[in-house]
Amino acid sequence: MDKNYQVVIIGGGPAGLTAGLYCARSRFNPLLIEKGIIGGQITNAERVDNYPGFPKGISGTELGQLIHEQATSYGSETLLAEVTKVVPGQKHNLVNTSEGDFIAESIIIASGAQFRKLGTPGEDRFVGKGISYCATCDGPLFRGKTVAVIGGGDSAVTEALYLSKFASSVNIIHRRGQLRASKIFEERAMAEPKIDFIWDTVVTQIEGDGVVRQLALKNTKNDRISILEIAGVFVAIGSKPNSAQWRGLLPLDEEGYIITNELMETKTPGIFAAGDIRHNSARQVITAAGDGAAAAISAARFLSY
Ligand code: NAP
Repeated sequence: MDKNYQVVIIGGGPAGLTAGLYCARSRFNPLLIEKGIIGGQITNAERVDNYPGFPKGISGTELGQLIHEQATSYGSETLLAEVTKVVPGQKHNLVNTSEGDFIAESIIIASGAQFRKLGTPGEDRFVGKGISYCATCDGPLFRGKTVAVIGGGDSAVTEALYLSKFASSVNIIHRRGQLRASKIFEERAMAEPKIDFIWDTVVTQIEGDGVVRQLALKNTKNDRISILEIAGVFVAIGSKPNSAQWRGLLPLDEEGYIITNELMETKTPGIFAAGDIRHNSARQVITAAGDGAAAAISAARFLSY
């Protein structure tokens, strides 16, 4: 038989976990459904330096576990399952998961985003054989080796800084002549002797035998082709929203992010979105947590009237 919840929260990153904490404290029995790891994308962060209250920084995994512990202590329930389908209804919504079906009076979508692929020839062939999307997960495998990081944002620079602990040298390959990363990360990377920058350059081919051996690079200013020998490639070029199942059900922007107002309300009453899945999200841990709190407050208001 279907089980009823006042709020079903889809996603267990900072937005979903904070929504769970707020809903549970308001005594709206929430069910939080997470298909992967509690903490979501922040579990890839070796250290989160900019979450208020942790002046020495905190590991992403630990921060996720702490928010989960806090939410659970107030009664937020957690289910590790994949949401396979949602059928919005007039009064109740049906949520199908790999572990059973649920009736939800309201839904908070906090399913976040996932890494974006480069789309360069050779990428798919070498995933797990030198190509990685997570330095925290795979960095230690490249001790004493030369690696490349592709991208120019906070992810690329923080991954490069982490990799510099293990690798003999780290090349940041960026398609422009200027980073988009925060100045503090840029300053740290510029000061790290193991990190080199290859500007105005794109990867045109990833080559190897059983594992990655080299990258073919093209300078976008003069079209010059060069070869860079490396043992590992970390792709850090941003993310895309996990919103496929909402296409046709909710308004999405052109990249697939869910459109909400500042109260985290979507166009459908009783369905809210929070965190990285939301159009124009600042994509920070603290803003995701703030979105989660705002979505829970809006859900509580919806359930009360
Ligand atoms: P991002 O800010 O969107 O940056 C993506 C980078 O990849 C950009 O430099 C972009 O180049 C480049 N890029 C995109 N598509 C590319 C392609 N096809 N080929 C080559 N390069 C490509 O993504 P992000 O770095 O993952 O950061 C996402 C959000 O998370 C940001 O809000 C960031 O502040 C946050 N974040 C924060 C931390 C932290 O510790 N505070 C750490 C990681 C991420 P262009 O610059 O030319 O567009």
